[in-house]
Amino acid sequence: AVAAPETSSPSLVGRLLGRKADEPRRVLDDDMLEQLEELLISSDMGVDTALRVTANMAEGRFGKRLSSSEIKNLLAAEIARIMENVAKPMPIYSKRPQVVLVVGVNGSGKTTTIGKLASQFKAAGKSVVIAAGDTFRAAAVEQLQVWGDRAGVPVLTAPEGSDPASLAFDALTKAQEDGADLLMIDTAGRLQNRSDLMEELAKIVRVIRKVDPTAPHNTLLVLDATTGQNALNQVDVFQKISDVSGLVMTKLDGTARGGVLVALADKFGLPIHAIGVGEQIDDLAPFDPQDFAAALTG
Ligand code: GDP
Repeated sequence: AVAAPETSSPSLVGRLLGRKADEPRRVLDDDMLEQLEELLISSDMGVDTALRVTANMAEGRFGKRLSSSEIKNLLAAEIARIMENVAKPMPIYSKRPQVVLVVGVNGSGKTTTIGKLASQFKAAGKSVVIAAGDTFRAAAVEQLQVWGDRAGVPVLTAPEGSDPASLAFDALTKAQEDGADLLMIDTAGRLQNRSDLMEELAKIVRVIRKVDPTAPHNTLLVLDATTGQNALNQVDVFQKISDVSGLVMTKLDGTARGGVLVALADKFGLPIHAIGVGEQIDDLAPFDPQDFAAALTG
């Protein structure tokens, strides 16, 4: 699967040139660069990154005549270059159980992503346990149980309103006893009260470290790609309140704004472990910079 952003017209470059690749070449001048910048910005790349991409692309080529396909390929190569450094699958350690803390705002796709990951790990022969750490939303716990059933993975829960840290402690203890390979801990995502959330995440980390001082081994931040530039703010916030080790970008199947991934890579350089490309259990793909850049530029 490829992150193919659906655009209203065929492609960024197609929108710029409005003609086919075999038609006359255009001079790469200020006017064209400005148009390219605007197109990249409209894909949610943000101004700074869009300027950097176009400047790099124009280096040594200013004033030259280029065909649409040359422009597309040059832009795609620039974008892929930025993305190459961040395309990394989630690291798997020899430590068992490996503890994966999953953070992100409500609605970003945490529950779905945990289900998809659990299914992938299970298919790879790993035993997985999920802890439903968003104990404040009964619906979230139910939803996670549905995903656990789909993936064939046990979901440990606690009564509504109970302490997520205590659930995390029990879950890790049990995962250890059972000899599980991976424990994925869901967390609440109520950013409205940032200091509560910060305290809650800090407490989860403190408590699981009583069981395993090296935990958590991964802290995955799940981001909804359709929120555009807002995703950048979410990284800022979650980096302040947790030790984010990697990103999963969801909902790339339904957005023309995938440019935000380039901005994220450019600004934070955090690994992108996987991308969500739909609502089904198999709709989680490795992040492929070449495919992504080709899809984004059309
Ligand atoms: P949570 O509140 O962060 O746990 O978010 P959920 O996992 O409940 O997801 C919120 C909504 O986004 C649900 O309707 C999911 O089906 C949907 N969703 C999650 N990931 C994806 C994705 O990659 N693509 C699409 N199209 N929808 C997704």
